[in-house]
Amino acid sequence: MNRVYLDYAATTPTDPRVVEAMRPYFTELYGNPSSLHAFGQEAKSAVEKARGQLAALLGCKTEEIVFTSGGTEADNQALEGVAFANEKKGNHIIVSKIEHHAVTECCEFLKKRGFEITYLPVDKYGLVDPDVVEKAITPKTILVSVMHANNEIGTIEPIAEISKRVKEKGVVFHTDAVQTVGHLPTKVDELGVDLLSLSAHKLYGPKGVGALYIRKGTRVIPFLHGGAQENNRRASTENVPGVVGLGAAAEIAGREMAEEAKRLQPLRDKLIKGLLGKIPEVQLNGHPTERLPNNVNVSVHFIEGESMLLNLDMLGIAASSGSACTSGSLEPSHVLLAIGLPHEIAHGSLRFTFGKNTTEAEIDYVLDNLPQIVDKLRKMSPLYPGGKK
Ligand code: PLP
Repeated sequence: MNRVYLDYAATTPTDPRVVEAMRPYFTELYGNPSSLHAFGQEAKSAVEKARGQLAALLGCKTEEIVFTSGGTEADNQALEGVAFANEKKGNHIIVSKIEHHAVTECCEFLKKRGFEITYLPVDKYGLVDPDVVEKAITPKTILVSVMHANNEIGTIEPIAEISKRVKEKGVVFHTDAVQTVGHLPTKVDELGVDLLSLSAHKLYGPKGVGALYIRKGTRVIPFLHGGAQENNRRASTENVPGVVGLGAAAEIAGREMAEEAKRLQPLRDKLIKGLLGKIPEVQLNGHPTERLPNNVNVSVHFIEGESMLLNLDMLGIAASSGSACTSGSLEPSHVLLAIGLPHEIAHGSLRFTFGKNTTEAEIDYVLDNLPQIVDKLRKMSPLYPGGKK
């Protein structure tokens, strides 16, 4: 059976070159970077090399990078770190309604601690309007966080324009760039951000490691307390192999991502065109052009995303019916509801995300099989005119 992985937004395979770079740090170069002996110093220089590789991709200073355990920790550290550092100044935080749960759940936690949260609406494509951001800012606002690109519908937000408005008001700006670092240009000065979160496993690096960029001068209260690692900003012995892997992945992405985006975009457009052309009553979710080059998200009316997923899985095709974290729950995705989809249409959503190993033959395989799956499921659906009553 074919095995077709089209769920790169959930996670990517670790690039074999990244695995090779990491390997010695498990077995031979296993020192603790805080140790003064040669073993420790070798590990420390590997961590610092990785910091340099990541700084080059982000166009920032090495000392502005704090390695974390992933995107979730980077988001939590950014939001809670800025919130608690600015408690005396104000208690108002602004985020979009379509942020990842790593941001929204953190906001709900802060709400219980006395912070006020404004969730900004988005338009039908999932775009945040910079004017709306500006109008939401009050003298009590201490932080605005808007993601660079949405993990479900792929919409790319106008971050540079939003950050300009936020910075004009003297407010700290964070972006969750977990879906864009290593895929699109993410130079921090071009984006105009004070903080930026990323995660290695979304750019062909290992799982369980990420980073938070913190612009020099931005006050953030550390999340973990203990040792003096990461310049006193994150206690705990560094995940040396993971950090080395993130550095290697960042360096490879810097060289290859532009070409890869150029290769994937036509595949994305072929799948969108094919699905809309071959299946009646299907709609594209997210922006038609301002979207990640590897993301296709559609709603197939009258049937459930999960039943399509299971049928695709039987053919070896791995896709997603929303974000990996929300599948398994019966609640429709908050992102699809925020773009205005009624519950029943949100439930019929499917996400395909592509990457390095994706081929045109795989797209053809989906296009050859999904129409029949939809047809079969619709015939069994009481919701479908002409379906089973
Ligand atoms: N933010 C976004 C936009 C994501 O897509 C994800 C992962 O799906 C995360 C944050 C969480 O990252 P991690 O899995 O590294 O904790």
